[in-house]
Amino acid sequence: MTRTVYVNGEYLPENEAKISIFDRGFLMADGVYEVTSVLEGKLIDFDGHAVRLQRSLDELDMNNPISKEDLLEVHRELVRANEIDEGLIYLQITRGAPDDRDFVFPDPETTPQTIVLFTQNKPGLANAPTAQKGIKVISIDDERWGRRDIKTVQLLYPSMGKMMAKKAGKDDAWMVEDGFVTEGTSNNAYIVKGNKIITRALSNEILHGITRAAVLRFAREAQMEVEERNFTIDEAKEADEAFITSASTFVMPVVEIDDVSLGDGQVGSVAPRLREIYLEESLKKAI
Ligand code: PLP
Repeated sequence: MTRTVYVNGEYLPENEAKISIFDRGFLMADGVYEVTSVLEGKLIDFDGHAVRLQRSLDELDMNNPISKEDLLEVHRELVRANEIDEGLIYLQITRGAPDDRDFVFPDPETTPQTIVLFTQNKPGLANAPTAQKGIKVISIDDERWGRRDIKTVQLLYPSMGKMMAKKAGKDDAWMVEDGFVTEGTSNNAYIVKGNKIITRALSNEILHGITRAAVLRFAREAQMEVEERNFTIDEAKEADEAFITSASTFVMPVVEIDDVSLGDGQVGSVAPRLREIYLEESLKKAI
């Protein structure tokens, strides 16, 4: 099926959508993005994504070319036009396409920004079989830039990390800096020790996951203990459980790190419980 996508104010068939070769997203990775999940045809945590998008734009001195209300309308129209029941909506905003390649930012008055949205249909996202058996990760050095709190489209190193995991026959990679786990290639990382949920605190070193914020809130509401602090990969290997969170995986158990099985090597109890609470509570507020 040909998707209907959104490009700079227009809804078009995907094969008719075009972006200039001078677009700074293409030439300089000068762009930000968001991925919002769709369950039962509704948007999960749209507000959280809109707020983080504004923050990313502000941090990069980029204007926001679309109001929150219009952005919601575009998301909804794409869900409708593409008949998405379960899936994802990808949004990207770049600094636009100046007349020529130049390191200096173009004048926003004369260079309109580029905004693109498209859907990814993912039937069965909520009931993914992987959530039942968990994923296996490897650890790799974190070689990304220092502003990981900004959700930019510079995804080459995370992409390389996924390939390293794939070559090792595993599912993903956890990145390690100065001995401590930062996060997964496209998700936040957690360990569980004696029923305590441990995850790195927010800083410029990690992306401030929208799923992370919701999961930690739900965990605290369910009287689960949460500790936001650094942990080493060795501590993770000795944990009872581990898991990741993101808009596309929700809460996903991790059963192995660098060939070391966690606990008894099976999915534990905390991650599945959090996944259940997250899906149930998020759906209640979905719009
Ligand atoms: N960390 C990184 C590096 C990511 O790329 C992502 C999502 O793409 C996340 C964390 C999770 O963020 P969210 O829960 O907002 O999807």
